[in-house]
Amino acid sequence: MITSLSIQQVAEITGGELIGESTWLEIGKISIDSRQIITPGDTLFFALVGSKNNGETYIKELIDKGVNAFVVSKTFDAAAYPEAVFVVVEDTKKALQQLAYFVRNQFTKPVLAITGSNAKTTVKEWLGQVLSQDYNVGKSPKSYNSQVGVPLSVFGLRDYHNVAILEAGISSVGEMDKLEKIIKPDIGIFTNIGSAHDQGFESREQKILEKLRLFKSVQYLVFRNDNGLLSEVIIREIPSEKWISWSDQSGSVYRRSLKIGEDETRIILMKDDLNMNTFQVPFIGQASLENITHVIVAALSLGQNPSQIQSALSSLKPIDMRLTLKDGVNDSLIIDDTYNNDLEGLKVALDFLSQQRPKRRKLVILSDLLQVDEEKSIIEEVSELLIKHEIDGLFSVGKSLRKAQLPSTISHLAFDSTDELMKKVSHSDFQDDLILITGARDFGFEKVVDHLQKRVHGTTLEINLNSLTHNFNFYKTQLKPETKVMVMVKAFAYGGGAPEIANHLQSLGADYLAVAYTDEGVSLRKQGIHLPIMVLNPVKESLELCLEHDLEPVVFSNSFFRHVCDVAKKTQKSIKVHLDLDTGMKRLGFGKEDLDDLKGLIQANPQIVIQSMYTHLAGADEDIHADFSQAQIKDFLKMSDELQRVIPSKALRHVLNSAGIMAFPDSQMEMVRLGIGLYGVEVGGVKSGSLKSISTLKTTISQIKTLSPGETVGYSRAGQLLNGGNIATLAIGYADGYDRRFSKGVGEVSINGKLAPVVGNVCMDMCMVDVTGMDATEGDEVIIFGEEISLESLAEKMGTIPYEVLTNISTRVKRVYYLD
Ligand SMILES: *Cc1c(COP(=O)(O)O)cnc(C)c1O
Repeated sequence: MITSLSIQQVAEITGGELIGESTWLEIGKISIDSRQIITPGDTLFFALVGSKNNGETYIKELIDKGVNAFVVSKTFDAAAYPEAVFVVVEDTKKALQQLAYFVRNQFTKPVLAITGSNAKTTVKEWLGQVLSQDYNVGKSPKSYNSQVGVPLSVFGLRDYHNVAILEAGISSVGEMDKLEKIIKPDIGIFTNIGSAHDQGFESREQKILEKLRLFKSVQYLVFRNDNGLLSEVIIREIPSEKWISWSDQSGSVYRRSLKIGEDETRIILMKDDLNMNTFQVPFIGQASLENITHVIVAALSLGQNPSQIQSALSSLKPIDMRLTLKDGVNDSLIIDDTYNNDLEGLKVALDFLSQQRPKRRKLVILSDLLQVDEEKSIIEEVSELLIKHEIDGLFSVGKSLRKAQLPSTISHLAFDSTDELMKKVSHSDFQDDLILITGARDFGFEKVVDHLQKRVHGTTLEINLNSLTHNFNFYKTQLKPETKVMVMVKAFAYGGGAPEIANHLQSLGADYLAVAYTDEGVSLRKQGIHLPIMVLNPVKESLELCLEHDLEPVVFSNSFFRHVCDVAKKTQKSIKVHLDLDTGMKRLGFGKEDLDDLKGLIQANPQIVIQSMYTHLAGADEDIHADFSQAQIKDFLKMSDELQRVIPSKALRHVLNSAGIMAFPDSQMEMVRLGIGLYGVEVGGVKSGSLKSISTLKTTISQIKTLSPGETVGYSRAGQLLNGGNIATLAIGYADGYDRRFSKGVGEVSINGKLAPVVGNVCMDMCMVDVTGMDATEGDEVIIFGEEISLESLAEKMGTIPYEVLTNISTRVKRVYYLD
């Protein structure tokens, strides 16, 4: 933080009541995440109450760890913990914002704020790179731009920063005023406006007006002046003396002209007084050029020298800001964070590292950070972070980190340059390790990632873990706080990849997992998943394996119950099981007629421990079956009541799948079973826009061919371009899960934002699409489904349901996981 605070000050600033002995307490750090506390003695913990998590539940544990100071709400019994100090407020989130407001006012250097629909993070990172030629830049880590993220970004500012860049994102009306108070920007950048979060607003114009509230007191606003509605609204609302407008036409402060080459562009910016500057940037796409123009104009407005700006631009690349999980050499797992240059970013990456399933060692390959001054304190903080995250080894590149004082538990190899590291470190240095690779752009760590990652075949399924979190939290908001969530990760987590998804769910606080077969459960255990796991359809031969790996089989008949008893007898162990009650699905399960025998078995075999009882609804996603579902629920309640009478401890009851959660909120009972909705498919009563799509299936163009009229394409000569044209051959076929039913124009893929229909029959490993008249080159990325093409629309074309499209994706398609 910029200044330390006393706990009395915190109480005063937040209007809270101070409880506990508090003669002396200096606050140096603020935290909202119990897992991220590094120096408990001077940390103030804000217990935020969210849909997924209540910070108050961690207080006892944190006191044991040495945290003394907390901000809590009135409902919390602070008097029960005399050993700590509490500031009691109405609303802890509001208090966090009030404190951020105070801390922001201690920062006297310029603050730039960025908002818009897209590219906020890219513009922030690029601008950070450019300004760091002359300044110590403080900025939001990743995309910390929300009602909680912005305060945390402000607490991350230090007194040695001499400019700050903060990003603000909103999803509904009223939010921006709060962020504006906290950021209080001197200079604003409005990147652009698009469809993101449209559902939170009445109209596009309302959304622009709301975002513009961030800039109500700025001195200058950087914006593009040939941008339709966005420019119109800005010009109407913001006084002209504040404009720093640019456009490709005349009439703006800067007039831009572009000379686009093969892989570079020259940007010429001319002012009214004919003062002209030329910049060379290493990319040609229009979106990147728009973003970089915002950056250059903002840097010029801060008074930065054009030649300094140019020297930073030469090393920029269109960036991938995401933290990506990749398979590495010798069974290692790599976290690719090659675009990170500050402490705040390192914290986010280390946190992600800690959430991964355990591997042999935790290693970090790290470059010097770009904050030049105060080197010593930064190195100390880096060391603290590595210790706190129990890192086993550090490979450092750069002079400053060489001096890091690390305990003997952390091995440290120091290199002067990335090239030296590349020369001296080989594949055999890694085996089943978890490796975080994080470095400032200048160090070119993408080479290191390239060196250590396993090769990927052209087709990948990208899974956005933030969207998965979003969807999980969405369902949490639909549930009573005490209702448990079992997540269905059967069939390779609906195609998404079981271990990574299970691991992420574990860190999100899911209560139970369920798989279809024992093998799937065993594999999760071997990957370090420790949540309880229910096995829907264990065969009797696999029961001992279940027991060995602490998996809990479903029992669905009296004869199967007897098999379980045999195994219990043989192994002399008690076995946890779940009872499947059939109320109309007619798949597996006990019918009413089986209950008398079942009760006898339960009473005679106390070593069989009944964890839960459940039933499955046959038509929860269709209104026409609502009466049937209600009847199923009623039958289930009757049957489970009857059984509970002979079960010694209380068994959990669960009925609802994703669609059921929306349709029958009164029947949550003790647990629900979440499936397809988590993976972003809107089934059964979910308002459109509430869920985020989590997966994108991508491939590449292998070859482009020109066809004359009359030539045919593929097997059975089933494809033709009537007037001739171009086709692209893609590296995906039905063996990858691109169904043969997409043949002959049924399927469409997206290439550079345009749709291209399938020509002829889909082959086993390839297919051909029509790219006549389109901007398409060999090697280009092709989207099979994702944001542009919804999974639902594909399923419909194929005449099936999204479940099948997802689970059809072959395991040979590489899964890549990222946080954006
Ligand atoms: C697959 C499955 C679910 C999840 O259903 P969704 O429709 O994907 O939410 C729930 N319960 C059982 C028994 C299942 O087999």
